[in-house]
Amino acid sequence: MNRQTTSTAGGGDRGRIGATIRAAPGYVAAVLVVAAATLIAWFAFGSSDLADVVMVVLLGVAVVSMRFGYGPSLLAALLSALAFEYFFLPPYFSLAIANVHHVVTFGVMLTIAFVISHLAQSVRDQAERARRADLVAQTELQRNALLSSVSHDLRTPLAVITGSTSALLSPHAPVDERARRALLESAFREARRLDRLVRNLLDMARLEAGELRIKKELQPVEEVVGAALNCLEERLRGRDVEVDIPDDLPLVAFDSVLVEQVVINLVENAAKYTPADSPIELSASSSDGEVVVEIADRGPGVPEQDKERIFEKFYRVRAGEGGGVGLGLAICRAIVGAHGGRIWVSERAGGGSSFRFTLPLGGRPAQDGRSATTA
Ligand code: ADP
Repeated sequence: MNRQTTSTAGGGDRGRIGATIRAAPGYVAAVLVVAAATLIAWFAFGSSDLADVVMVVLLGVAVVSMRFGYGPSLLAALLSALAFEYFFLPPYFSLAIANVHHVVTFGVMLTIAFVISHLAQSVRDQAERARRADLVAQTELQRNALLSSVSHDLRTPLAVITGSTSALLSPHAPVDERARRALLESAFREARRLDRLVRNLLDMARLEAGELRIKKELQPVEEVVGAALNCLEERLRGRDVEVDIPDDLPLVAFDSVLVEQVVINLVENAAKYTPADSPIELSASSSDGEVVVEIADRGPGVPEQDKERIFEKFYRVRAGEGGGVGLGLAICRAIVGAHGGRIWVSERAGGGSSFRFTLPLGGRPAQDGRSATTA
C-alpha cells in the first residue's frame, strides 16, 4: 500500500520534472531574448530616452509570449521589468528606486509586460480551441459522408434483391425459366455487391483500429492475380482482360487475402469506370528489390488534381458514379503500406489510367517452407 503511494508520488514528480524539461528551452529563450532586448535598448538609447527603452524591452516580452508558453512569457515579463529597473532607472545598476515617479514607471512597465503575456496566451488558447473545433467538424463531415453514402449504397442493392425475390415469391411469379433465372441472377449480383461493400467497410474499420494482422507468405504473384480474377468472374464477363506475368517473376512475401483484396478493388474499378468494350491489362515485373503489379485500363483516366486524393477515404472524383463509397483505394493504400510497398496512379500513353503497386522482395522462407514472415 505504502509502496504504491510512494511510486505514484514518484510518478507525479517524474511527470512534473518531465514537463519542466520540455518547457526548459522556452525559459532559456526568455532569458536570452530579455538580455538581447536590454542590450539593444542600452546601446541604442542609453538611459536618456525611457519611452524608446520601454518599447524595445516590451518587444522582447511580446516575442517570447508569441512563441512560447505562459511560464516563459511571465518570466520574460518579470525579467524585463527588473532589467529595466536595474539598468535604466536611477540609481543605475541597483534595484533601489530613487524617485516616486519611477515607481509608477516600473509598475506600468511590469503591468504591460504581464498584459502582453496574458493576451498572447489567450490568443494561443483560442487558436488551439479553433483547431480542435475544426477537427471535430471534419470528423463529423466524414461521418455524415459515410452515413449518407453507405445508406445509399446499401439501399440500392437491397431494393433490387427485395424486388427480384418478392417477384419470384408472388403468386404471379413468372413461369418462364429464363425470366426466373434473370431475377435470381440480379438478386445474386446485388447480394455480392453488398458483400463486397460490407467487407470493404469492415476491412477499413479494422485497418484503422490496427486490428488487421498481416500474415506474410512467400508465394507467386500470379496466384493472387488468378484468385482475384476468379472472384470477379461474374463482374468481368464479356470484358477483354489481358494478363502478362513473366514465369521467372520472383516469389514475394505477402498476405494473400489482403493483396487479393487490393487486386480485386483495382480490377473492379477498372471495370466500373471504363467503357464495357475497352480492355483491362494486368501485368507484373520486378526491379530494384521490389515487384510492381500494374492494372491498366483505357478509361477516362484520373484528373491530375485528384491523383493523390482518390487514395483518401470517401474521396470520389464524381459523386454517384460507379456505385461505390470511395473506400476501395483507401483500403488498397493501407494494405500496400502495411506490406512496405507504394501505390499510385499515372496516365497511360494513348489514354486511360495505370494503377501500380509495389511489394518489397526479400521475405525469408520459413522452416516449413510455407509461411515466410509474420508481421
Ligand atoms: P469507389 O470506387 O467506391 O468510388 P475508390 O476508392 O475505389 O472508391 O475510388 C475512388 C475514386 O477514384 C472513384 O470514385 C473514381 O472516381 C476514381 N477511380 C478509381 N479507379 C478509377 C479508374 N480505373 N479510372 C478512372 N477513375 C477511377
